Amino acid sequence: MSNERSLREEIVANGLKLTPSGLSQGTSGNLSIRFGEGFLVTPSGVPYGEVTPDDVVYVAMDGHYEHARRPSSEWRFHRDIYAARPDAHAVVHAHPPYSTALAMCRKAIPAIHYMIAVSGGDSIRCSDYYTYGTQELSDAVVRALEGRLACLMANHGMIATGATMEQAMWRAVEVETLARQYTLALQIGDPVLLTNAEVIQALEKFGNYGLMSRPTPRT
Ligand code: 13P
Ligand code: ZN
Repeated sequence: MSNERSLREEIVANGLKLTPSGLSQGTSGNLSIRFGEGFLVTPSGVPYGEVTPDDVVYVAMDGHYEHARRPSSEWRFHRDIYAARPDAHAVVHAHPPYSTALAMCRKAIPAIHYMIAVSGGDSIRCSDYYTYGTQELSDAVVRALEGRLACLMANHGMIATGATMEQAMWRAVEVETLARQYTLALQIGDPVLLTNAEVIQALEKFGNYGLMSRPTPRT
């Protein structure tokens, strides 16, 4: 089986996980994997249960594609993340409830738990709001991802990147878990933040932990 075929199948398989893992519902969200001189991305507006490997759209870095399906309306931020971030080989965008609720309040997730290290830094920023599918939104999320591997998107959802699709999906679930924990803590009182030194220690250890330490693949 060709590399391209297996990546198309990986996108379909992970699309099917979005709803059971609590990350998205309906046709919300989109997934991509870097491939060749561009990337493979889910088609726009097709329920994940109906997407076949052939429906996944290859988009070149200039936005050109040749397919009966349209690529995700968010192809611009997938493209711009791959252009800005050589470390990113997979991108997951979703609308999970707690991340999205915090993003509705335009709240970043601060260092409330050592697992903040999944973000690659001491916070998960919230991008500014722009209409979905626009270049302005793409520019805003690339800014929010500076030095980070995940971000929230104001009044919209979240993005997680990874060296693999498996890692990006794992990171997306971890971000949603942090968002849920932070939301609960805010209801109880005033969450105490970790210090810079405590976050740096967690970040240093984290490089050798679980999915973070898996080798970067192919493409
Ligand atoms: P697409 O179906 O076009 O990927 O759009 C879903 C979405 O989440 C837009 O932000
Ligand atoms: Zn969206």
